[in-house]
Amino acid sequence: MLKVVSVARGGKGEALGIQPGDQVSRINGEPIRDHLDYHFAMADEEVVIEVLRDLRRLELSTFVPAGEDLGLEFEAEKIRLCGNDCVFCFIDQNPAGMRDTLYVKDEDYRLSFLHGNFVTLTNMKTWELERIVRQRLSPQYISVHSTNPEIRKRLLKPKVERDILEAMGYLTSHGIVLHTQVVLCPGYNDGDDLLHTMEDLARLQPEVQSLAIVPLGMTSHRRGLPKLEPVSPEVARETFELVRPYQRRFRRRFGKTWVYLADEFYRLLGRTVPAAAHYDDFPQLENGIGMTRHFFQALEGAEDLFGEALRRGERAFTVVTGELFGPILRRALRRTLRRTGELDRIRLRLVPVPNSFYGRGVTVAGLLVGRDILTGLQKARRRYGTLGERIFIPPATVNDDGLFLDGLCPEDIASELGLPVSTRAFDPTKPLNLYEGEGAHEHATSCR
Ligand code: SF4
Repeated sequence: MLKVVSVARGGKGEALGIQPGDQVSRINGEPIRDHLDYHFAMADEEVVIEVLRDLRRLELSTFVPAGEDLGLEFEAEKIRLCGNDCVFCFIDQNPAGMRDTLYVKDEDYRLSFLHGNFVTLTNMKTWELERIVRQRLSPQYISVHSTNPEIRKRLLKPKVERDILEAMGYLTSHGIVLHTQVVLCPGYNDGDDLLHTMEDLARLQPEVQSLAIVPLGMTSHRRGLPKLEPVSPEVARETFELVRPYQRRFRRRFGKTWVYLADEFYRLLGRTVPAAAHYDDFPQLENGIGMTRHFFQALEGAEDLFGEALRRGERAFTVVTGELFGPILRRALRRTLRRTGELDRIRLRLVPVPNSFYGRGVTVAGLLVGRDILTGLQKARRRYGTLGERIFIPPATVNDDGLFLDGLCPEDIASELGLPVSTRAFDPTKPLNLYEGEGAHEHATSCR
């Protein structure tokens, strides 16, 4: 059931007499368990809505033309939690002092469909698998890790076990598209096990459309957790040599690479990331697969990077990044600025920020917290005497509400340093401009 929290003035819901506190229990006879059920049910134009109010059951009929709705707002629904205790779980490695939501171990197939969150399927009931098929909640993003039940059990330590291949077979046999991932944990699921997993999943093509192999993330907050080895350059090389022939074979046979290695592998190997064609349509960009190449593409398509800032008279900037991307970004920016003719017109300082919050082993920009960014910038200012006229911070460091992982926001940094701060989403389909444009966010005053 969905509990109504507000009814829009002048909307159809109000005309029907629906009130805050009412519970929508059925539409056209179908039970309404959550927002997805509601939206599916409202695809019909003729609707009979069953509402529960103070132990009374009301039936309300109306016609809702396509594109309109009842103007109802519902209570936020409970997110399903995972039933695992994965040895590599990043949430268990979170230090104290972060946003509350970052300690929630969600695992919800509805969020997988809506936002691409990964699920292991261990908490799924049979009726939920059937629902995915019935309501075509496709694609789903599946954390497989290993198709060997014993190894998967050692990795996930699930409360309830589920045969992953059987569950995926059920979904794929009904045409549900799946994107999959393996978090590589040396000594658990690398080598031969990875090979078997890859072959098992390849048999589920074309519905299984991609497999991403990402190294486990290790922070310096693992006290009391199982001992794990990070992915070393040697493991990265073995994995690369194992995966490469398969990528070639899949490309010949299916016209796509299908199995992708995270950028971290190429960094560990000292290799340049593959060309854009290798990543096909970047099916797992949100998972960090092909992020570097995607960024290069954005730079290649850029007509200028700081044009708007230059037109406003600004000349000197500081760009923040993580330690992983620092050297790559330095070269790429230099190349691009030379091409766009901006190199001699601006002064640019790149500040790769060390991650003290999670530990120096975590080097990606997306896991930088506000406090570390501020400290890194303060150090840079002491060292160089200036940060220029504007600071650019990677958009991946803030959530949709504009907050860093530790709850600070770009405005805090702006007010602390007395400089405007911009975050910017790179999108290769649009001209890139580091100053303004689609997805740009300016931060100069308080976020609170
Ligand atoms: S599925 Fe595993 S990695 Fe994901 S939140 Fe649960 S315990 Fe953590």
